Amino acid sequence: MPKIAFVNGSYRNIHKASIEIEDRGFQFADGVYEVIALTNDVLIDLDFHLDRLNRSLTEINIKWPMSRESVMAICAEVIRRNRLTQGSLYIQITRGVTARDFSYPNGIKPSLVIYGRRSRNNQASSKAQGIKVISTRDIRWGRCDIKSISLLASVLAKTQANHKIAQEAWLLNEDGFVTEGASSNAWIVPRPNVIQTHPVNSSILSGITRLRTIKLAQEQSIKVIERPFSINEAKKAKEAFLTSSTLFVQPIVNIDGSQIGDGEIGSTTKTLIKSYLDFMD
Ligand code: PMP
Repeated sequence: MPKIAFVNGSYRNIHKASIEIEDRGFQFADGVYEVIALTNDVLIDLDFHLDRLNRSLTEINIKWPMSRESVMAICAEVIRRNRLTQGSLYIQITRGVTARDFSYPNGIKPSLVIYGRRSRNNQASSKAQGIKVISTRDIRWGRCDIKSISLLASVLAKTQANHKIAQEAWLLNEDGFVTEGASSNAWIVPRPNVIQTHPVNSSILSGITRLRTIKLAQEQSIKVIERPFSINEAKKAKEAFLTSSTLFVQPIVNIDGSQIGDGEIGSTTKTLIKSYLDFMD
């Protein structure tokens, strides 16, 4: 079955769809995006993702190319045309097409691309063994709260991790504190039933899975501390995990070659994995 994407007003085979070379997303990464998990035909926390998209657009002064309701209708149509049930949806809005110039004129029409990706089963993290992460310097810009399509620093960090047979890179600020992962939020369990993550500010993306995990933790009487932790604290933690829309709650058993806890998935992380999977069901 051909994969169909929505690109600037029409539904196209993804291999034939095209963007103009003077689209500012292509030339300047002048745009924002969202990735939303699809489980059993349902887009997980769609409203939160669209709220964050709205915030990202507002922060960089791009207008919605159409109403939020119309974007939702296109998401549903992309899912229908591709017969997707499990996977994820990608939404990208760029400032649009104009003659190449660093500063942008007013009144350009934003570009909108929406397409989906099938994945076998979103329950992966329930069976996970735990992944490895490495740490590396956070060389990103000062507005990581905006979900910008400018992802070069994260591309390099993640590739560095993969070369070291790790699945994620934790990014360290100049004081040795973990801000977040290249494409996920970072968490430790300093003691059982207590979870700790970086507070929301311009150094991190306010993850939708992070937000959902906080709500689920509170329901389970797990204490949530929003305070930065150092890489050394992380290595000494009882447990560690990451959260993202594609990996959900993903246990971490090794950081920079140091085993975390006893190298098995800990009980607090297990509780959160189960809560998140139950929530999605
Ligand atoms: N931080 C960064 C830098 C990310 O790229 C992502 C995933 N896009 C996240 C955190 C997790 O966000 P979410 O839970 O909304 O997927």
